[in-house]
This record gives sequence, C-alpha cells and structure tokens, in this order.
Amino acid sequence: MNSSIIGKIEKAHRYAREPERVRVQNLEASFRGGHDDYTVRLTDGRWACSCHTFASHAVGTCSHVMAMQQLLGVMLSDDARYDRDTELAAPAATA
Ligand SMILES: [Zn+2]
Repeated sequence: MNSSIIGKIEKAHRYAREPERVRVQNLEASFRGGHDDYTVRLTDGRWACSCHTFASHAVGTCSHVMAMQQLLGVMLSDDARYDRDTELAAPAATA
C-alpha cells in the first residue's frame, strides 16, 4: 500500500472519532422495531416514520425517531436533533 493511501486511512480514523464534523441532512433508514419494520426519514431537518405512533400523534416523533436522534447525536442539525417533547422526555441526552 502506498504512503498516500496510508495517510488517508489515518486521517479517516481521526475523522471517525470526530462525528461533529459530519452533518446528516437527509436520510432514509429501515428500523427493526419491536413488532415490525419501519421506514424512518429525515428530509430537510424534518423527521418522519412509517409507524402507527408517528402517524397518529401530533407531536411529530416516536420511539424510532428518538432512537435515531440519539444514534446520530452531534451529526444532526439543532432542529433535527431535538424537539421540545423529546427534550422533556430525555433531558440527560441533551447535556
Ligand atoms: Zn416510528
């Protein structure tokens, strides 16, 4: 392996430990829930989920969206990272 590639790999390892460098703006993921598989989407900072809870509640979140917010953490914009209801439900995650 040439030294140029080795340098890039080392840089990638460093970058991977600095997730705040990354901003996820759009995303589509399949989420294996407790009862079924769901599709979770982030589009221009707004979350959506195909589950029943998300569709039937006006709060705009569900356990799948909340889990994605925790997984992605600092890689999300402020708008996508928190909404008021999530913040109230999990104050420790905002610290
Ligand atoms: Zn959901």
